[in-house]
Amino acid sequence: MSERPLCPVCNEKPVAVNYIKEDVTHYRASCDSCIRKGKKLKPIPPLWFKRGYRKKPQCERCGFKFKFPEQSTVYHVDGNLGNCDQNNLKTVCRNCSIEIDRGRISWRPAKPVLTF
Ligand SMILES: [Zn+2]
Ligand SMILES: [Zn+2]
Repeated sequence: MSERPLCPVCNEKPVAVNYIKEDVTHYRASCDSCIRKGKKLKPIPPLWFKRGYRKKPQCERCGFKFKFPEQSTVYHVDGNLGNCDQNNLKTVCRNCSIEIDRGRISWRPAKPVLTF
């Protein structure tokens, strides 16, 4: 019996065989029943989500009100994706995110908060 990896979606059944070519078996990403049910691996939540940050309903730069979650993205003010401090996170629209990325504008930094 060949080593068929376990389905990463349900962790119960072996993954389905996609095709066999030159004696090499190519597998699918999940098992037959998961494919049939249309089950997919859940996307890993981003770090900011795990740290308790939630996207705002509108863009914090231009004020655009989001109709769909795909229109918004979370921007890290200091550019460090590992810094998920609430003060470092801004919800911006796709448009603003592109403008910031291209370096045409920079995020106007908030006044430094003194902590003792
Ligand atoms: Zn499965
Ligand atoms: Zn915007």
